[in-house]
Amino acid sequence: MKKSPARGRDIVVTAGIGALTVVLLTMSGSVAIANAVAAVAALCALSAIYYLLAGSPREIAAAPEKTESLPSPEADATAAAMVELLSDPVLLIGQGGRIERANRAARDFLGLSRDGGNIASLIRQPKVLEAITAALDGDTPPPVEYSANAPYESHVRAFVNPLPQKLGGQRLAMLLLHDETATKRAERMRADFLANASHELRTPLASLSGFIETLKGHARHDEGARDRFLSIMESQTDRMRRLINDLLSLSRIEMNEHVAPSEEVDLGKIAKDILDTLKPIAADRGVSFRLDAPETPVTVTGDRDQLMAVIQNLADNAIKYSPGGATVTVEIAVGDSPYDAIRPGGRLIEESGRMTIVSPSSEGAVGVIRVRDQGPGIERAHLPRLAQRFYRVEEGKAEDRKGTGLGLAIVKHVATRHRGGFSVESAPGRGAVFTVCAPLAGSAAPAAAGKQTAEPQTAD
Ligand code: ADP
Repeated sequence: MKKSPARGRDIVVTAGIGALTVVLLTMSGSVAIANAVAAVAALCALSAIYYLLAGSPREIAAAPEKTESLPSPEADATAAAMVELLSDPVLLIGQGGRIERANRAARDFLGLSRDGGNIASLIRQPKVLEAITAALDGDTPPPVEYSANAPYESHVRAFVNPLPQKLGGQRLAMLLLHDETATKRAERMRADFLANASHELRTPLASLSGFIETLKGHARHDEGARDRFLSIMESQTDRMRRLINDLLSLSRIEMNEHVAPSEEVDLGKIAKDILDTLKPIAADRGVSFRLDAPETPVTVTGDRDQLMAVIQNLADNAIKYSPGGATVTVEIAVGDSPYDAIRPGGRLIEESGRMTIVSPSSEGAVGVIRVRDQGPGIERAHLPRLAQRFYRVEEGKAEDRKGTGLGLAIVKHVATRHRGGFSVESAPGRGAVFTVCAPLAGSAAPAAAGKQTAEPQTAD
């Protein structure tokens, strides 16, 4: 154990004072010489023992003070590794907005392949750029909130601070982007869900309580009326159940719309599963139901349950709106490009109207789902509003067609989340074709700038 010089000095001084005291007492005749010699010897022995053993607690207590700071290159590397691992995007911005460093989260968030480039070309938010300029001048601006709607909704809070260190004599700013999209969406979804559910459930609930009153009153002993009313009540409760289920799935999909799915899903396989479940329903309505898919898997990057919901909703509509004797076809195919998939050259139906409901936000090969029917078709005027929630073309016949008006809204949000596309083509009396595409596994690339807005959002 290493002893400090200070402690050795303490002990020598203490022992010295003790020995001096004994010598003085001996000289004054108060203590016998033999006793004095023994006392000095005992004092020296005790001092030696104390010197060897004592002091450990003091050394331990003092230990933290002795920790040496890391050498500078190691400290730099540790700090850089910490920043790299942060889940929030962090960027170091130099004069003129040059990106000096960006951690992994920032590279993913902004689609940066490596450091470099200018922040103004990546974040086109004047308030953020002003805050960066202020920080580069040495000020500490307040956090800036901004939102974007394309290619999908995002809400971000940006924190900008000047750094005390300088690079080549020039000041640096640190930009931290905190993604608040999920929180904001959750707040809005909750509010939307409550508003939609309470609005849509009010009518069937009022009808149910009306029938209950009637059954308690004058229809109490009328067996025929009772059976009729009970079956209407049953269909109203079914409708409420479907509404709640559809609203819940819509909220769930919307909540994750900004996070692209990552599973690999074979479209042919899920179409086959849906076919098996819907065949009996189609047979009940006298509609024949066919699947047209290649032998080899058509594997896309997607969310299995959500893609199942897409095929289920489109096929269900096609069966529901087709007359007896008609044929519904679900086609699964591979396409070279999402734009050609949703807007193929030439019409699929003669003299049809066509509407792109979701423009693709990725490029590359796609898996295609196309559902064709020989039903009544849809007037061109209705196409632009078709995928709005609760929009139903034939409100009057709503009861016998058992719809919620949410099916196509669900398809639209799934296509958006998949960075895919969604279109409809139809002509009154000639049926309808609904097409959805999603990137083939391993082939998605972000859409070229401007391509997305190049696709018209109106019926043509
Ligand atoms: P719903 O639950 O009413 O079917 P959707 O959102 O699935 O709701 O569809 C919205 C509306 O679009 C429907 O009410 C119907 O008027 C129309 N529609 C959807 N699919 C077809 C189709 N295959 N043929 C004719 N009209 C359709």
